[in-house]
Order: sequence, then C-alpha cells, then structure tokens
Amino acid sequence: MKGLVWFRRDLRLHDNPALSAACTECQEIVPLFVFDEPLLRSHVFGPACVGFMLGCLEELRRSLAGHGLTLAWRIGEPIETVIQMATERGIDTVYWNRDYEPAALERDRTVQQRLAQQGRTVRTFKDHVVFEADEVRGLTGEPFQRYSAYRDRWWVKWRAATPPMLAVPTFEAVKSAAPAPAVAPWPSAADLGYDSVPMWIEPGEQAAHARLQWFLRGPVHEYVSGRNLPAIDGTSKLSPHLRFGTISARTAIHAALNILSKGGRVSRADVFTWMDELVWREFFQQVLTAFPRVVEGPFKTKPGLPAPRASGPERDRLFAAWCQGRTGYPIVDAGMRQLNQTGWMHNRVRMVVASFLVKDLRIDWQSGERYFMQQLVDGDLAANNGNWQWCASTGTDAMQGYRIFNPRIQSEKFDGEGEYIRRYVLELTGVPVKWIHEPHLMPQDEQDRAGCRIGSEYPAPIVDHRQARQEYVDLGKKSVAP
Ligand SMILES: Cc1cc2nc3c(=O)[nH]c(=O)nc-3n(C[C@H](O)[C@H](O)[C@H](O)COP(=O)(O)OP(=O)(O)OC[C@H]3O[C@@H](n4cnc5c(N)ncnc54)[C@H](O)[C@@H]3O)c2cc1C
Repeated sequence: MKGLVWFRRDLRLHDNPALSAACTECQEIVPLFVFDEPLLRSHVFGPACVGFMLGCLEELRRSLAGHGLTLAWRIGEPIETVIQMATERGIDTVYWNRDYEPAALERDRTVQQRLAQQGRTVRTFKDHVVFEADEVRGLTGEPFQRYSAYRDRWWVKWRAATPPMLAVPTFEAVKSAAPAPAVAPWPSAADLGYDSVPMWIEPGEQAAHARLQWFLRGPVHEYVSGRNLPAIDGTSKLSPHLRFGTISARTAIHAALNILSKGGRVSRADVFTWMDELVWREFFQQVLTAFPRVVEGPFKTKPGLPAPRASGPERDRLFAAWCQGRTGYPIVDAGMRQLNQTGWMHNRVRMVVASFLVKDLRIDWQSGERYFMQQLVDGDLAANNGNWQWCASTGTDAMQGYRIFNPRIQSEKFDGEGEYIRRYVLELTGVPVKWIHEPHLMPQDEQDRAGCRIGSEYPAPIVDHRQARQEYVDLGKKSVAP
C-alpha cells in the first residue's frame, strides 16, 4: 500500500501516531509538508514563527532522509495541493494528525470528502492534545467553561485511560514512494514572504527533548515560585515546540510523572503545577472546539466592556506606544521589547501587558491578540485567544468583578531588582532600584545621574494607572447596569 503522511503541527518522528500508522500499514510512503500560501500571505503569523517552523522542518527533513524517506514540500493552497499530490503519486491512504482550529477542521473535511470521491482512504489521529474536547466533559456531557473543573476531570481521565507514547517507527518495511520527487532547494523565509530573524529558541525535535530534559532536571523543582520571575529561566520554553509538535504533550506529561515516580527530593507541588499548565493548554483547545465563536468575539455573551478610551489617531498613538514598548511603565515596556526582539514573552509579563492594553488603554483585546500572533514564536489560536479573553475578562476567568493588574506592584513583586527591566529597556540601565519601577517619579538630579531624562530618553507614563483603573471600573459598572 502507498501512503501519504501530511505533516502539519507534528514535526517529529517520536510519538507521532499518523507517521507510526503509515509505517506499519504501507510499503511506500510520501511524507509531505504544505506551506499554506493563503495563510502565509495573510500575515497571521510573523517572522519568528515562520523561522522556527523552517528550522523544525529542516531537521525533520534530515531525520526522514536518515531513514531513506524524502520529505516532499509545496508552497500552495493546501486542499488542492494534497489532492494533486495524492493523484500524482497514486496514493491509497492519506494519514494526518488532527488539528482543531475551526478553519483547519473545515479544510480537513473538504480534503477528506474529495479524497473519498477519488476512492482514497483517509486515516486521522489524535495527537495535538492528550484528550480531545469530547473526551473530557461534565457529568451531563457538557463542555467545561471553568478551568479548575476541567483540570480535575482531565486528571480523572488520565488515571482511567493513560495514553501510551509511541516510539520512533522502525521504517524497516517502508521506502520512499517512487518516483522520488525532484528535490527543490529548501525554501527560505524570504521565499515565504518573511524576513529572516535570529532564533532565540532552538527549533527541532532534538532541541525539544533536550529542553524538556534540562527543565525536568532543574527549574521544574522550583516552578511554583520560579515561573513568576521573568528575569530567570524558570519555565520550560517548550511552547513553540508544542505549537509545532516537535514534542507531544503526552511525552511531556509522561516525562514529568516519571521523575515523580523515581522519588527522592522531588516536589510534587512544583511538578504538578507545571503539568497543570499543559492542562491549561488543553482547556483552551477544548474551549475553541466547543465554542468556535471565540474566534470572532467574546466567550461571554454579555461581556459588559467599558467604551474605548480613544479613537482615530489618539487610539493609534496609544497602541503604537504599547507595541513599541514606550508606555512609560517599565515592566510593560520590557515585556513588549522582549516580544519584539525574541518572539517570546514571559507568561507573567504577558498577563501584565494584556491587562494594560485592555484596561488601562481601553483598546480592544483583538488588536492585542493580533499583534501577539504576528510576533510570537509560539503563536497559537487557542492559547492566544483564550488567554487574551481571560485577561480582558471576556473569557473563562472565574473571577467576579475586574482583574486589573497594577504594573508597579507586579514589577516590584516579580522583578524586584529590575533585572528583567534593565535587560530590555536599555535607557533604564543606570536607574537605581529605588526608581526602576516608577522612573517618572525620579527627581531631576537623579535623572541626570542615571543618564535617563524622563520625557526624552524614556517616556513619561502615557496614562495614569490609578486614574485609568478607576475609570475602567466606573465605566464597566455603567455598561452592565440595567
Ligand atoms: C495574553 C497571553 C497570550 C498568550 N498567547 C499564547 C500563545 O499564543 N501560545 C502559547 O502557547 N501560549 C500563550 N500564552 C500562554 C503562556 O504565556 C505560554 O504558553 C508560556 O509563557 C510559554 O512558556 P513556557 O513554554 O516556558 O511555559 P511553561 O510554564 O513551561 O508551561 C508549559 C506549557 O504549558 C502551556 N501553558 C502554560 N501556560 C499556559 C496558559 N496560560 N495557557 C495555555 N497554555 C499554557 C504551554 O504549552 C507551555 O509551553 C499566552 C498567555 C497570555 C497571558
């Protein structure tokens, strides 16, 4: 039998259900990756994400070549490209791991129908999540709307039906389907319409495993406190790997449980807190699957949002200051500059900058969501949308009332010495700890000594947080009043 394995969010050999099934069932295989041209042209993603994906594909190509398989690739519209490839190569069965984004579901339905009309078989597999949306449901079968209830059920499910991990297939019985595709030079970022940018997180399956091992040997043991400190490497930085599937969530959970089972001086609380973050990821996937309306608007049917602060050029000025990291709030600015420079931002700071955009500047969360997708190396619709809505209080946040982060308090608490701030906001390098969280309060002579004049070298705050907070709360009350 001749099979086509369509790689999408699963750029790896290890624990890859679609690839393993194809290797078991087929004698000849065409591994294929399609660069989705309409998606790339729409610039939903940015150069960091595209660069990371290319790096992962480069390694996948080498790994497959090591087993005698040639990774075919095309730039084009995916539906037509897959159909054409299956026809050209006389494929019997097309294999893929499932993707749950609404547009991807629609695309896959169409491909499946068209292939069936041609008499070809399609085999799809669960892979991107440990449990799909309909596997973790409430007692009456309803999807969960609160994370804590979902998490508890998720662990019950894990204990009842622990999903196994798959080894790298042996590839012994398969070979590249003949005729081998002409090997075109691998596309560059420029061929895909993007700038090439430095990679701050190493792409590829090997790097993902190394990162997981490094994390489980060290930082996970202090995760509960370390995960909140943006100046240290206290989290796994596996998010881009999970996004592109260079490692599976199953593998990550199994590996974490494995260190617990070995005993010794392992903190269950730290390890479980980390695994629960992976459950957050699945929670937002199931929100997206069960409530696809979140792509277009708020999860809450009556979000009661205060009116925007500004419109036209004034709104654009505020938004540009936020994007560029020039708000006059050091922790916000450090976060946005980390994002712009590296394509990644620490989770605690993501929450702070999102709250600042939506609640202090009163700019719609969708603008922030879009900007993040264009900059993030781990940009993922489910996680990004779910978190933005959580921060905007339009989503699944269980907290009653308004969660508004105070940038100064967050900064003092989680970056006390200002180490993270100084790493990204270079103008503040010489500012003493006493003023690092609110440099605009520095007396003039201190500003001179620190080599940082507020209003010229570094901006004064673009809004007053205390006042902005009060306005948000007052306007919010009015917007929900009967
Ligand atoms: C406004 C905002 C936007 C976000 N956008 C994205 C996004 O586009 N893609 C993305 O993967 N994460 C997003 N997150 C979640 C979180 O910030 C990142 O997953 C995390 O910072 C990645 O770092 P890490 O891999 O070191 O995480 P770790 O702390 O090591 O956590 C392990 C894994 O758990 C998952 N995870 C952790 N926190 C969350 C969370 N809050 N929601 C969902 N999954 C989580 C990630 O897959 C992560 O890799 C966003 C958070 C906020 C507040």
